[in-house]
Amino acid sequence: MTDIYTCPHCHTANRLPLAKLTAGESGKVVCGRCKQMIFPPVPVQLEDAHFDRQVLQAPLPVLVDFWAPWCGPCRAVAPTLEKLASQYAGQLIVAKLNVDENPQTASHYGIRSIPTMMLFRHGQVADTVMGALPLPALQQKVQTWLS
Ligand SMILES: [Zn+2]
Repeated sequence: MTDIYTCPHCHTANRLPLAKLTAGESGKVVCGRCKQMIFPPVPVQLEDAHFDRQVLQAPLPVLVDFWAPWCGPCRAVAPTLEKLASQYAGQLIVAKLNVDENPQTASHYGIRSIPTMMLFRHGQVADTVMGALPLPALQQKVQTWLS
C-alpha cells in the first residue's frame, strides 16, 4: 500500500490521502496535472512501461485482463469488465493489457491463452481466472477479493 499513485492517463505521480477516503470518495479523486479521474469507472489501458507503477504499486487491488483485439472471447468479455469497473470504482482497478503490444509483461506472467485475468494485490498475483466468465461469476469473485 502506498499513498503515491501514478495517474493512468498522464503518468504523473499523485499523493493520495486514501486512508481518509471512503470507496465512493476515492473513486472521485482527480489527477493534480491532467484533472482526470485517478480511479476512473472504466477499464484503464496498461503498457509494459508503466505496469509496475500502475499495477504492482497500486493502492487498490487490480484486475488485469490480458487480451488482444483479434480474440473473440476477449471482445465478448469486454462489456463485463466495463460493468465491473463502474460497479467497483474506488475499490477495484479494472485494467486491460494488450498482449500483442506489451509482450514483455505477458511473457513475464506466462500468459499462454487469452483472455486470462489476474488479480494483483500488494504487487502479487492473488488469483488467476482463465477464459471469459459471465458477469455473475466474476462479480462473485470480486466480492471474495474485496472481502
Ligand atoms: Zn493525470
